[in-house]
Amino acid sequence: MIYFISICPRSLMDKTVACGASNRSSILLEGTMNLSTPIEEIPRVGLQYQRRLKKLGIKTVQDLFFHFPHRYEDFSKIIPISKAEPGGPFCFQGEILDIKNIYTSRKRMVLTQATIGDKTGKLKVIWFNQPYLINTFKKGDYVCLAGKIAKKGSAKYLSSPAYEKLPTINYKLKTEGLTHTGRLIPVYPETEGLSSRWLRFIVKPLLIKLKNQISDSLPEKIRKKYEFLPLQKAIWQIHFPDSLKLAQEAKKRFAFEELFNLSLFVLRERVKLAREKAIPIPLNLALIKEFTKSLPFKLTDAQKKSAWQILKDLEKPRPMNRLLEGDVGSGKTVVAAMAALNVAKAGFQIAFMAPTEILAKQHYKTLNGFLNPVPYARRDLTKQNAKGLGGGVNIGLITGKESYYDNKKITRKELLRKLEEGKIDILIGTHALVQEGVKFGKLALVILDEQHRFGVEQRARLCQQPKFIPHLLSMTATPIPRTLSLTVFGDLDLSIIDELPKGRKKIITKIVQSKDKKETYNFIRAEVKENRQVFVICPRIEPVKTSPENLDGELSQQVLSWMEVKAVKDEYQKLSKEIFPDLKIGMLHGKMKTQEKEKVMKDFKDKKIDILVSTSVVEVGVDIPNATVMMIEGSEKFGLAQLHQFRGRIGRSDFQSHCFLFTDALGVVTNRRLRALLSCENGFELAEKDLAIRGPGDFSGSRQWGIPDLAMTSLKDIFLVEKVRQIAKKLLEEDPELKKYPLLRKRLKNFGEKIHLE
Ligand code: ADP
Ligand code: MG
Repeated sequence: MIYFISICPRSLMDKTVACGASNRSSILLEGTMNLSTPIEEIPRVGLQYQRRLKKLGIKTVQDLFFHFPHRYEDFSKIIPISKAEPGGPFCFQGEILDIKNIYTSRKRMVLTQATIGDKTGKLKVIWFNQPYLINTFKKGDYVCLAGKIAKKGSAKYLSSPAYEKLPTINYKLKTEGLTHTGRLIPVYPETEGLSSRWLRFIVKPLLIKLKNQISDSLPEKIRKKYEFLPLQKAIWQIHFPDSLKLAQEAKKRFAFEELFNLSLFVLRERVKLAREKAIPIPLNLALIKEFTKSLPFKLTDAQKKSAWQILKDLEKPRPMNRLLEGDVGSGKTVVAAMAALNVAKAGFQIAFMAPTEILAKQHYKTLNGFLNPVPYARRDLTKQNAKGLGGGVNIGLITGKESYYDNKKITRKELLRKLEEGKIDILIGTHALVQEGVKFGKLALVILDEQHRFGVEQRARLCQQPKFIPHLLSMTATPIPRTLSLTVFGDLDLSIIDELPKGRKKIITKIVQSKDKKETYNFIRAEVKENRQVFVICPRIEPVKTSPENLDGELSQQVLSWMEVKAVKDEYQKLSKEIFPDLKIGMLHGKMKTQEKEKVMKDFKDKKIDILVSTSVVEVGVDIPNATVMMIEGSEKFGLAQLHQFRGRIGRSDFQSHCFLFTDALGVVTNRRLRALLSCENGFELAEKDLAIRGPGDFSGSRQWGIPDLAMTSLKDIFLVEKVRQIAKKLLEEDPELKKYPLLRKRLKNFGEKIHLE
């Protein structure tokens, strides 16, 4: 007999769903659920939860099973109450002797106070801000509680323990019996609005019922050779392990498998692409020379080398698949512009996709500036020169809302018509570029800024004649430790700009504590006096929780982003009223309308604003060479790579730039991380440091790449990475189409859909 003994979170109880064990099990055990049942059809997964799960990419029962815990709480040690000592965690079984809520006026807290007793003694229990627990337990209930014993004066109490009801006092601790206490408890990666308790509550009965339906896509002979757990056992043990050793073994299997799949995917993608045809674009050397001469600066050697590699690739009749990696400010755009120019002048089209509207517009301006300099009246370019480039290039812009052509607004319909007729050479845009109805007459090159992959099918979809696959140039400032890129981006060729333009000074970075802020403000005032400009970044706001298991303490994304807006407004107020009443302060946040945002960015660019207070929206790409100070509030809240990105917004001119990291949280780890920024200005090195200090969970961009977490973790193990790659290679040599492994083939297909942009 299997019992489902867990207590419903309040949100579930509100819907007057019965919480009785028998009741729940019967609901879940009935029906015709299977692995592909969508989460909407799982009992007790309401709309809000559906939304939260989907945010994590969890759409089906199977996805839920593959959402793994990242650690375990050991509540397996059950002791008699008389042995309770400060510390723990311990687990107790007993009877509720009394329970009540106490409202404290001072801290506006609700304490739920209970006493439990067993044969050996009694113990006080306190929960904080979970008043609904009073409805969960009543006097006489048997419970299993697990948590730490705290001490106040001479009194001991069990502090905010995890809990579940027991059917009998001497409830046998069979592996499947308990869910939240009395065993190794899975703790899932923290996600706003999805507590581990809730996930356990949903996942466990489903696992019990359906785990036997999961079929193993890992080839049997590989599994046997490396002695991995069989899938069904592994999946149970990773969620509800009998021992840490088994959990570890399960994890090992999945880590291997994810890496293995990733390697197979990358290797196959490479082979697949080599079979496709692309339009070869001859390298027009005279044109490129003319273009380089027209630039107001000299290209760095790294830029030249990357451009050369790209232009050479474009000459081939096979689709280029190249990643251009370069630290922020290294000048990737001009390299892309060169490739685009060469393609446009050969009579073909270019799609240029940017991650945000602000950036799409910036690229529109920049490319117009580089390629059609006349309307932008650059000092050093006469009309004559511009003609040398062959009379300009037609550039269009498309976003979700607007379309531009020849620097004028036009309707979407007109734009799409021009595109199909081939009148637009370069179309820049946001995701709107890949939506229905956008058809290029003769597309030959796709350029992606800050996005990494774009499947062959997706590329084909953009073209009128899908006989040819367009070349792909992907650009990123996310520094990928070199050692990893082979596995993650093995299907892409790499060009690296590892040199900043000449004349750039090293940015001076300082960690500043509150008490020393004043000095920084003085410094900022002096800089503004010198006509320089300043960015102020407000801290990212993270969900606040009153207790680890309390769902209601968590905040919705909506609320969070409003809080970020508030933080920006507060900082704006503070700076403009108290600290710099005489300076011009602007603000920028995600809740502003696009037009408002653009106006602010334009004002900043036109120096009508001295200090721009912003949320992290300025993170990628924005180019304001006159800004020389970056001040980051709550800097410990950001990842190193992200801080590095912020810092990259300054230091884009010959002026000395300064970055101030405000923080009061100087714990050991924070300190080490922030200090890494002081000494290191190279994004690659920083990424490696971040990886070493925090582990790859926070590794910037991993989510963006769609790489599974465990694979990410194992990427740290270079030895394993290499070994897995060899195993994958060998398998493909024996069976390139994976004919003998239909399950695996299917798995890779799904994987590909996830990893590519949709
Ligand atoms: P990122 O690689 O971060 O996208 P951008 O392409 O935005 O960098 O370039 C940053 C700034 O540096 C731009 O203002 C650009 O015009 C300028 N720039 C690019 N290459 C050079 C160079 N070789 N010398 C001087 N300035 C350059
Ligand atoms: Mg850029």
